[in-house]
Amino acid sequence: MAILLDGKKLAQKLKSEILEKSVVMKSAGNTPALAVILCGDDPASAVYVRNKRKDCEECGFDSLEYKLPADYGEEKLLALVESLNQDPKVHGILVQLPLPRGYDETRIIHAISPAKDVDAFHPFNVGKIMIGEPGFLPCTPAGVMLLLEEYGIDPAGKECLVIGRSNIVGKPMAMLLLRKNGTVTIAHSKTMDLASKCREADILIAAVGKAKLIKADMIKPGAVVIDVGMNRDENGKLCGDVDFAECEKVASYITPVPGGVGPMTRAVLMKNTLQAAEESQRNL
Ligand code: NAP
Repeated sequence: MAILLDGKKLAQKLKSEILEKSVVMKSAGNTPALAVILCGDDPASAVYVRNKRKDCEECGFDSLEYKLPADYGEEKLLALVESLNQDPKVHGILVQLPLPRGYDETRIIHAISPAKDVDAFHPFNVGKIMIGEPGFLPCTPAGVMLLLEEYGIDPAGKECLVIGRSNIVGKPMAMLLLRKNGTVTIAHSKTMDLASKCREADILIAAVGKAKLIKADMIKPGAVVIDVGMNRDENGKLCGDVDFAECEKVASYITPVPGGVGPMTRAVLMKNTLQAAEESQRNL
C-alpha cells in the first residue's frame, strides 16, 4: 500500500511557520496583507475566497475582500487593481478566476503589479520561472514540490510525466521539475497512448480535470503519484484525476483528494504573500 503524501498536515506546518514570521512583522508595523477581488457570484469562487480569508486569519495576515457585482465593468476593475497596486499596506493582490463573461482576464492579470502578483500569473513572473530567477512560484506546482521535498522524493534523474499543459498548473509544474533535474514529459489531450507514457513515469502528476482518468494498470509499480485534479464523481463526491482506491495498491507514494495538493496550493499563496510583504519592507 502506498504512503500517503499528507498535504493537509504539511500545509498546517507551513502556516504555523508563516504565522510566527507575520507576528514579528506585525509588531514592526508591517502586517502582511492580501487583497482578494471576487467579481460575480460563481459559488465555487465564493468558497475559494472564503478559504483564503480563513488562511489569512490563521497566518495573522490582514485580508481585504472586494466583492463586486458581475456588471462592475472592466475599466472600474482595472482602476481598483491600480489603486491596490499603489497602496503600500497591500502586499498581495489576487483576482479570483474565472471572471464573468465579458471581462478580458489577460488584461486584468497583466494590470497587477508583478511585485504583488502572489498567484505568479503575470508574464513577468512566468518569465522568471522559465529562466530560474528567484520570484513568486505558482501556488499549485510549488505546493507539489514542497510535498515531494517533505517526503524526501528527489526528482533528479527520474522520469517525470506531467499530464496537462495549462498555464497555471501543467506548464509551470514541468518547469519546476526540470529545475530539480527531472527528465520531464508533458502529456495533453492530443497525446497518443497516454497509458504507455504513464507506465514509464517514476513521478506521475495528473492535472487534467477528468475524474479517475488514471487507472492502476497505467501506474509503474512503485511510482510516486500526485493528483492535482479536483472533480466530482458519479455520486457528487470530490475526487481527483487518479482512481485512488486502485492506484494506492501500486504506487509507492500517493496524494489523497481532498487533503493532498489542495491545502498545499493554499499554503503557498500565504507563503507568497509573506514573501511580498518581506520584500516591500526591504524596499522601504
Ligand atoms: P485545464 O486548463 O482545463 O487543463 C487541463 C489539461 O488537461 C489540458 O492541458 C488538456 O489538454 C489536458 N487534458 C484534457 N483531457 C486529457 C486527456 N484525456 N488526456 C491527457 N490530457 C488531457 O485545467 P487546469 O486549470 O490545469 O486544472 C486541472 C485540474 O486541476 C482541474 O481538475 C482543476 O480543478 C484542478 N486544480 C486543482 C488545484 C488544486 O489546488 N488542487 C489547483 C488548480 C487546478 P489540452 O491542452 O490539449 O486541451
